[in-house]
Amino acid sequence: PRLANQIAAGEVVERPASVVKELLENSIDAGATRIDVEVENGGVRLIRIRDNGSGIPKDDMALSLSRHATSKISALEDLESVASLGFRGEALASISSVSRLTLTSNHEGQDSGWKVFAEGRDMETISSPAPHPIGTTVEVRDLFFNTPARRKFLRTEKTEFGHLEEVVKRLALSHYDVAFTLRHNQRTIHQLRPAKTRVEMERRVATLTNPQLMDNAVVIDMESESSNLRLWGWVGLPTFSRAQTDLQYFYVNGRMVKDRLIAHAVRQAYRDVLYHGRHPAFVLYLELDPAQVDVNVHPTKHEIRFRDGRTVHNFLFSTLNRTLASVRP
Ligand code: ADP
Ligand code: MG
Repeated sequence: PRLANQIAAGEVVERPASVVKELLENSIDAGATRIDVEVENGGVRLIRIRDNGSGIPKDDMALSLSRHATSKISALEDLESVASLGFRGEALASISSVSRLTLTSNHEGQDSGWKVFAEGRDMETISSPAPHPIGTTVEVRDLFFNTPARRKFLRTEKTEFGHLEEVVKRLALSHYDVAFTLRHNQRTIHQLRPAKTRVEMERRVATLTNPQLMDNAVVIDMESESSNLRLWGWVGLPTFSRAQTDLQYFYVNGRMVKDRLIAHAVRQAYRDVLYHGRHPAFVLYLELDPAQVDVNVHPTKHEIRFRDGRTVHNFLFSTLNRTLASVRP
């Protein structure tokens, strides 16, 4: 089973940023309202994520590390199907198979917190009592210490931290009610309080993207009753266009996506107002009936499939186009 985990880990644990993504999603799933991320050396030496979520009951702790560590894979030919299943129920197991992982957690009704440790293939989990407020801390040390080939593919500390920070930003831009901190090598990089009002939300967007964006953006909040679609967020004025596509955040039902149909609709809407080689900046949220989207096209990528792509495209294009036309000088 540990071999299976190591192979599966290769599919999704690509770099420190992928670890952070999985751990943050777990914290959010656990209902955390405060998440502290601390990393060293771009996340390679240490990733520590502490949350105030529900915590894990003592008896489930070892299980959550070994979960689904079944003999799902019996032959290498099965690898492809494992990859397509994605990471459901395998994140902690996979991460611990390529690192030194400590899970500390306390759950309501317990006398104290508990701690389990797993290192590489030898799932030597020893649990012991450990003080911890209600919630969970996952500490991942020495990522890929036992898979040198994978470690070799890591880029510089700066690049790895950049990817990791981007993951934090993307989640912070879809969970305004959660407080986040991010520290790198003892330095505070982000400290975000929960944002409730629009002004607070705009402050968070400005902090995470570009302080100038909010001074050069239009607020959008458009609903189409006939097709049950809602688009809200902020679009940068054409004058705030960028040389790179570095300020484009598009969420569908709270999930960040990079989708061709969406990209096309946005590009069309900006077509006559941007000069060649410039890219719009935006933070946009599309909400629709979940039955109208299939998010499982590829679990680790950001693609998505709409039941009725044409309607979505038309709605995006016309909403953005009308908005841009209304602010044209
Ligand atoms: P999945 O999230 O797909 O269930 P994971 O391997 O990511 O699989 O996590 C395994 C289990 O461990 C989760 O289902 C959850 O019960 C528990 N867990 C992991 N992280 C946390 C956390 N931060 N807070 C509470 N429970 C957690
Ligand atoms: Mg998970």
